Amino acid sequence: MIQPASRTKLIELSLIRKMFEVTNPDAINLGIGEPDFDVPQNIKDAMKRSIDENFTHYSSNKGYIELREEIVKKFKKDNGINTDPENVIVTVGASEALYISAQAFMEPGDEILLPDPSFLLYESVINLAGGRIVPVDCTMENEFKLKAEDVLEKITPKTKAIFLNSPSNPTGAVMEKEDIKAIADLSMDHNFLIISDEIYEKIIYDKKHYSPARYSDNVITINGFSKTYAMTGLRIGYLTANEEHTEELFKVHQNSIACSNSTAQKGAYEALTGPQDEVQKMVKEFKRRRDLIVSRLNGMGYETVNAEGAFYVFPKIEDKDFVQKAAEAGVITVPGSAFGLNGENHIRMSYANSYENIEKAMDILEERVVNG
Ligand code: PMP
Repeated sequence: MIQPASRTKLIELSLIRKMFEVTNPDAINLGIGEPDFDVPQNIKDAMKRSIDENFTHYSSNKGYIELREEIVKKFKKDNGINTDPENVIVTVGASEALYISAQAFMEPGDEILLPDPSFLLYESVINLAGGRIVPVDCTMENEFKLKAEDVLEKITPKTKAIFLNSPSNPTGAVMEKEDIKAIADLSMDHNFLIISDEIYEKIIYDKKHYSPARYSDNVITINGFSKTYAMTGLRIGYLTANEEHTEELFKVHQNSIACSNSTAQKGAYEALTGPQDEVQKMVKEFKRRRDLIVSRLNGMGYETVNAEGAFYVFPKIEDKDFVQKAAEAGVITVPGSAFGLNGENHIRMSYANSYENIEKAMDILEERVVNG
């Protein structure tokens, strides 16, 4: 084999994906990170039309202008962020936005604050860019919410960026407004970047989402269509930042992927401009499932924070063999340790599966794993 670049040696293939490969195909999958709903019909129709109308050429590198204009309106309406189409980039999922953020701003020696636990991709993009990870604890005592005072403690002159992800994968935690605002203030006072991954923004229950970009100029706000509109395989997301930051991000975007998929961009336009009732239905159903899974886990004696967003719960389960035993009994889950040290003794369970399957899965766990 040809010697790979040293940067790839720091990266591991996803533990979660590996888990799906080894377990039985009939198992109920609570490991999954994507909605079990399908793309709404109006979005499918818009994409079909785009092909028939030959909207299949390269678009403008940042994304076609009408879509970026809609994204600007969305940022204003939902997030209180004032931006303009020149400072929006349509990306290949939120994943690309995370990757180019790291490539454009991180280099060896930079300290990058990373909530622990957090989504696996953050660690990978930091490692690929050569940044040094500085974990910031998110503990069950704080319902896994990142606290501004814990961030402050980790700031040094080398601090270059922090990742925020509210609502959070893997915990479902939604940060408090005062912490978001305080961290935004810190980013201005200490001159570091906030990379705010807001992909679960709409999947939130009885709580309001706040974007740090309302309070700070040093923010890259990342969002996408994978979760809100169940468009995971269409690979479409977007970001906004101030003019200078966007220019650097754009250099990496243009020189790596040119532009995102034109057809998916048309679907995204329809998603933003069309009816939103499918989204509301989906969120209502997620809430029903969240209530079910939390009460069933608590009933089994597992302490569980009542996650306020995303579609994950993160119960405390100290049995080291739980994931294996559950998989053998027919329920796939993910060990919390995959997401950081504070994930030890926790299990991530996704409720992006039908209500009936979640009931069945909880019955299996109760009968064959807990009491088995
Ligand atoms: N951020 C978080 C927190 C996620 O959970 C995911 C998907 N699992 C992504 C980003 C990636 O989203 P996309 O499909 O838009 O690349």
